[in-house]
Amino acid sequence: VVGDLLRGGVRRVTEPHEELLSGWGRTAPTRAEVVTPAGIDDLRGALALPGARGVVARGLGRAYGDAAQNAGGRVLRTEAMAGVLDLDVAKGEVTVEAGLSLDALMRTLVPLGWFPKIVPGTAHVSVGGAIAADIHGKNHREGSFADHVVRFHLETPGLGTLTVDAEHEPDVFWATGGGMGLTGVVTEATLRLQPIETARMAVDVEKARDLDDLMRRMDEGDDRYQYVVAWIDCLARGRHLGRSVLTRGNHATAEQYRGARAFESPSLVAAPPLFPNGLLNPLTIRLFNEAWFRKARPGRVIERMGTFFFPLDLVRGWNRVYGPRGFVQYQFVVPYGAEDVIRRSLEHLSEARCASFLAVLKRFDRANAGHLSFPIPGWTLALDVPAGRAGLADLLDRLDDDVVAAGGRVYLAKDARVRPELIPIMYPRLDEWRDVRDALDPHGVLRSDLDRRLDLTGRNRVR
Ligand SMILES: Cc1cc2nc3c(=O)[nH]c(=O)nc-3n(C[C@H](O)[C@H](O)[C@H](O)COP(=O)(O)OP(=O)(O)OC[C@H]3O[C@@H](n4cnc5c(N)ncnc54)[C@H](O)[C@@H]3O)c2cc1C
Repeated sequence: VVGDLLRGGVRRVTEPHEELLSGWGRTAPTRAEVVTPAGIDDLRGALALPGARGVVARGLGRAYGDAAQNAGGRVLRTEAMAGVLDLDVAKGEVTVEAGLSLDALMRTLVPLGWFPKIVPGTAHVSVGGAIAADIHGKNHREGSFADHVVRFHLETPGLGTLTVDAEHEPDVFWATGGGMGLTGVVTEATLRLQPIETARMAVDVEKARDLDDLMRRMDEGDDRYQYVVAWIDCLARGRHLGRSVLTRGNHATAEQYRGARAFESPSLVAAPPLFPNGLLNPLTIRLFNEAWFRKARPGRVIERMGTFFFPLDLVRGWNRVYGPRGFVQYQFVVPYGAEDVIRRSLEHLSEARCASFLAVLKRFDRANAGHLSFPIPGWTLALDVPAGRAGLADLLDRLDDDVVAAGGRVYLAKDARVRPELIPIMYPRLDEWRDVRDALDPHGVLRSDLDRRLDLTGRNRVR
C-alpha cells in the first residue's frame, strides 16, 4: 500500500464568484455562483447553505449539455479535491478524491502497471463525473464505470455523509452511478483496476465498405478484443452508407512492446480560438471525412494509449471549432435486433446533409443495475452536429421517436435537447430512482439545469 505518499495534488481554490458556465458543447450557458471547496468541511458548508436555487457538483465540465450547470444557483467545483489517497497494489484498487481527473490517475497508475477498467473518449473527466454519468468506453465486455467502483463517499443534504457500496447500499449506489449528481456529491471513491504489462495498445485497423460490412465484421471479430470502436463517415450515402474505419485493440503485452511504461496524454496543438459558424459546412467536413478514410491503413499497429483512447484530446479546445453557437452531440443506444435504427439515422443524417465529423459506433454487451445508467446490450451511435442548423431540432426529434420505439434511449451526459416527455419512456426506472433520491435530498437542494429542463427529480411541479 503506497498510502499517504500519494496524497496531494495542487489545491487550486478560488474565492466564490459568479461565472457563466456551459457544457462541452458550449450551448445554453448560464450564470451561477461557483464555489471550489478545499476539502470536506468547505463542501459540507456549501451544501448546508444552498440558497433558493440549490446546488450541483461540477467536475471538469466535459458533459456536453447542461448537467453541471445551475442557473442562478450554486455550483461546487471539485477540482481542488483531487488527491490519490491510497493504492493497494495487492488488490489492484485505488482510492482517490472525486475531483481527480482520469488523466492524472493514469499518469500515476500506468507506470505501476495498472489501468482503469473503463475510460471514455477523453482523459479530462473527473472520477466524480465518471460515476455520476456512469460513463462507458470502448470496452464492450465490462460494463460501465460504476461496475468497477468498490465504494464511494457521498455527501447528501438529507442523510449527511454516507459510505456506499453495491452490496450494502445497492439503492443508493445504483441511484448515484448514472444519477447525474442529483443524489449527492461524491467526495472519494475506491476503484477496481486491471493490470497491464505496457503503456501501449496492439491495435488492428480495418476498413468497412458499408454498414452491413461493418456490423458483420464486428459480430465476427469483436470477441477477440477488449476495446472496439468504429468511426463512420456519416456523409457517405447510397451504397457507401456506413463506410467506416474499425479499430480494435488489446493492451500490448511485454513481448509486443519493450519500451518504458508511462502514460503520455496527447495534447499537441490548440484549436484556433473561434471559427465563424458556417466554416464547417458539408463540403469542408466531407473533405475531412474523405481524407481521413483514405489515410487509414489496415493492419496491426502498436500505438500509444493516448492516441488509441483519446484521439480528440490531441487538439486542445477542439469544441471551439464549431463556432460561437456551439454544437450538439447526439448519442443514443438501441438494443440488438434494432440495427435498422442505426441505418435509418445514418440515412436521415446523410440525406439532410447534416455536417458532422465522423460518427462513432460502439456496442455494449450488458447493462448494470444503475436506475439511470445509459448502457443496455446493443449498439450506440454518437455524432456531433453544429447547433442552430435549420431543421436540426425536427430531425433529431424524429430520430428520438425511432429510438424510443425500438426500446432505446439517449445519453443524459451528452444531451442538450431531448423532449422531457420521452425521459420516463427511455428510462423506465425513473420513478424508482426518484424514490431513492428523495430520501437522500428530501428538500430538493440538488438541482441542475439538466434537471430543470427534463424534470428528472420531478421537482418542477413541487416548487
Ligand atoms: C471528447 C469527449 C469524449 C467523451 N467520450 C465519452 C465516452 O466515450 N463515454 C462516455 O460515457 N462519456 C463520454 N464523454 C462524456 C463525459 O465522460 C461525461 O460527461 C463525464 O460525466 C464528464 O465528467 P466531468 O468530470 O467533466 O463532469 P462534469 O461535466 O463536470 O459533470 C457531469 C455530471 O457529473 C456530476 N458530477 C461531477 N462531479 C461530481 C461529484 N463529485 N459528485 C456527484 N456528481 C458529480 C455533475 O453534477 C454532472 O451531472 C465524453 C466527453 C467529451 C468532451
